[in-house]
Amino acid sequence: MTDRTERLFENDGGCDAFFISSYPNIFYYSGFESEDGYLLVTREKRMLITDSRYTVQAKEQSPGFEILNISDGLKNAFLKINEKNIGFENEAVTVGEFERIKAAAPDKNFISAQSEINAPRRIKDEGEIKKIAEAERLGDEAFSHILNIIKPGMTENGVALELEFFMKKHGASALSFDTISASGVRGAMPHGRASDKTIEKGELLTLDFGCVFEGYCSDMTRTVAVGEPSDIMKNVYGIVLKAQLAALNEISAGKKCSDIDAAARKVITDAGYGKNFGHSLGHSVGIEIHENPNLSPKCDDLTEPGHILTVEPGIYIEGVGGVRIEDLVAVKDGGVVNLTHSPKELIIL
Ligand code: ZN
Ligand code: ZN
Repeated sequence: MTDRTERLFENDGGCDAFFISSYPNIFYYSGFESEDGYLLVTREKRMLITDSRYTVQAKEQSPGFEILNISDGLKNAFLKINEKNIGFENEAVTVGEFERIKAAAPDKNFISAQSEINAPRRIKDEGEIKKIAEAERLGDEAFSHILNIIKPGMTENGVALELEFFMKKHGASALSFDTISASGVRGAMPHGRASDKTIEKGELLTLDFGCVFEGYCSDMTRTVAVGEPSDIMKNVYGIVLKAQLAALNEISAGKKCSDIDAAARKVITDAGYGKNFGHSLGHSVGIEIHENPNLSPKCDDLTEPGHILTVEPGIYIEGVGGVRIEDLVAVKDGGVVNLTHSPKELIIL
């Protein structure tokens, strides 16, 4: 692994050291897989402060770091550096934690630097993209497995558990988020977590799920019909698919995120369902399931090679049902590599 801490100083926001305390950033910069620790990084020094339970793991996972014991106090780590302006994760620490950090280093000047600390994670390197692609491949396999199992009379929970069991059995270390399994009228809730509801014949079933592979998340959604669906929901499915393809066609490096969102939104609005697509088109995915930039009407960032984005338009009709289709793509010059390979034509089981 190249030393990612060097990237902190390419855009340092006036900081000459960084104090890192959230799991995703500790893992990204040091490889240490625990949130029970802190990193203190300068241009010359890399320190990982953790407790005795983790020292063996820390030495193994973070070879470039000096390992300090938290029982010697945070103060001990700050005493080892002369730098005064310390960037910290202002969106990740609690007020109480911040007070303890400041008390450990009364002569330091703490600077809010969440966006500077997170920024390098926006562009994924080849190794990261491979891990995300593998996590997504597990999702694809789980989806094709579940198609043989879904039947009217099963509960949403039953389907979700099968998906989750399959992904974990085949190499996932965790789920990216609570699996969404929403059938019939519950499909109108974009984030309808799996419930005890029985899936009835003729209903659509939206499955939104993902897993973690070697520290990186996947995310995909498919909506399938369990028996012949109504004409209205068939029509809605066709509109969502057309919107999703329009957005995929629009993405390449150098595009404004809001323009990509608009490409999908226009298809749905033109079909008369604009008010039924209330969320953003997509988000970045990496160590965390929701990262920046977003494909939203408000995001004017430009896409870059190495962005990993979801493309997930949906239409939700209260009291009737919903459809969402979501792929995960890697942005390249001139287009994307789609990491999701499950079919998208409406599957009627
Ligand atoms: Zn999703
Ligand atoms: Zn998503």
